[in-house]
Amino acid sequence: MSRIAYVNGRYLPQGEARVSIEDRGFQFADGVYEVCEVRAGRIVDERRHMARLDRSLKELRIAPPMAPAALAVVMRETIARNRVRDGIVYVQVTRGAARRDFPFPPQVRPSLVVTARGNDRARIDQLAAEGVAVVTVPDIRWGRVDIKSVALLPNVLAKQAAREQGAREAWLIDAQGRITEGASSSAWIVTRDGTILTHPLGHDVLPGITRAVLLDVIRAQGLAVEERAFTREEAYAAREAFITSASQIVIPVVSIDGRPVGNGAPGLIATALRRDYHRYAELS
Ligand code: PMP
Repeated sequence: MSRIAYVNGRYLPQGEARVSIEDRGFQFADGVYEVCEVRAGRIVDERRHMARLDRSLKELRIAPPMAPAALAVVMRETIARNRVRDGIVYVQVTRGAARRDFPFPPQVRPSLVVTARGNDRARIDQLAAEGVAVVTVPDIRWGRVDIKSVALLPNVLAKQAAREQGAREAWLIDAQGRITEGASSSAWIVTRDGTILTHPLGHDVLPGITRAVLLDVIRAQGLAVEERAFTREEAYAAREAFITSASQIVIPVVSIDGRPVGNGAPGLIATALRRDYHRYAELS
């Protein structure tokens, strides 16, 4: 079955789906995106993802491509046409296509692309059961990574560096030696005294939706948690570490820069949080 993409008003086989070479997403990375988990055919945490999309668009003064209710329909239709039960739905909005010139074009319609694809849930569960390796690399991104823009070149380079070192994810280190987040995930540790730490929100991290829901889970369970930056050395000394993202939820980290985390096995807290996550997430 060929995959179907929604592109600016039409559902097309992906091989035939096209955007203009003058699309500002292609020319300038002048666009934003969202990724939601699809679970048993339903969209997870859609409300929060759509609120973040709205915020990203507002920050860049890109007009919404359609009304929220219409976008919700397109997302569902794309999921259905691709027969996705477990996987992700991807939404990308750019400022649109116009003659190449840096300032915002005076009259331009935003471009909208929606795709959906299945993932192998058993494989992700297996990954979570084994835990993953991360390596640290300098955070060379721009100053507004709280906007979920498609300008992901530093993330691409960080992820590639991780893969070349046999790791699944790269953790990004700021000028003060603190971990901001992963190349495509939020970063967390559990300290020796059992406190869960993740970087506070600001212009230097993406406000992860999985992060937000997981903070609800952690607080509901009465676990000790602080939103504060931690250094690479604190991460090396941690009892547990893990990453979160919509596509994989919670994945334990078992080594950082080749050093085992705790006893080198997936942590108990991370594993329990992964198990409990969907009891708190919204399905729609
Ligand atoms: N940080 C970055 C840089 C990301 O790319 C992602 C995933 N897109 C996340 C964090 C996690 O965000 P979410 O939980 O909303 O998927």
